[in-house]
Amino acid sequence: IPPPPRMMTVGRMEDDGFSPYAGCTLFQQLPISRKTKEGLAPKYKEMSEIQRASLPHSLCGRDILGAAKTGSGKTLAFIIPVIEKLYRARWGPEDGVGSIIISPTKELAGQLFEELKMVGKRHTISAGLLIGGRKDVDTEKECVNFLNILVCTPGRLLQHMNETPNFECSQLQVLVLDEADRMLDKKFKGELDAIISQLPKRRQTLLFSATQTKSVNDLARLSLKDPEYISVHAES
Ligand code: ADP
Ligand code: MG
Repeated sequence: IPPPPRMMTVGRMEDDGFSPYAGCTLFQQLPISRKTKEGLAPKYKEMSEIQRASLPHSLCGRDILGAAKTGSGKTLAFIIPVIEKLYRARWGPEDGVGSIIISPTKELAGQLFEELKMVGKRHTISAGLLIGGRKDVDTEKECVNFLNILVCTPGRLLQHMNETPNFECSQLQVLVLDEADRMLDKKFKGELDAIISQLPKRRQTLLFSATQTKSVNDLARLSLKDPEYISVHAES
């Protein structure tokens, strides 16, 4: 039997889940923009476990189904890839909505919007918080078409999809469902299905929640492409 050929893999033809950044522990080691690194420092240095496990994949455009308990840092795990995707694509005011982040409650949407503003403070990408009852929806309608990142509750987003003239998300790059297990619940089913039906299928989708949602039904609804399942357990 001849010895096995000595080969070195220098590139991969297929996306097999490999990432050269899998061993990173610090945000500064990630292949992200200087602007984002400046937004993260000095508050954030070491990545939490869900961030360490998911960012190497989400940053290269893969779909993610991530589960980790409340308080484990899931917000940064999706805010960073959203910002980087639009920044790398040189997204600007004329490009419209590039990312939609949906959260089940106004309070959670508000919190993650604050985090987005902080991490994105060096960027010129625009973002808006669209939640029911916050302010007059008509005022919002005038500016929503100029926003690059929408942070919203399902009801308010759907209201814009149905009522705002020229509301456009055909260029959407990244869809995020925060608290995905709650979002996929039957309470939001009607709204979420109506939203998804208006989004382009070719996009990156990031789902994060406290519990893993693997139901084939849910995944079909969201048209996930070969997602990375990342689960971080309580003992860690
Ligand atoms: P989750 O969505 O998983 O419940 P959050 O994203 O809301 O968690 O984060 C919980 C808290 O942890 C927040 O106060 C956040 O500022 C903090 N946090 C997140 N990531 C890090 C990190 N890498 N280093 C230090 N603190 C972090
Ligand atoms: Mg959260």
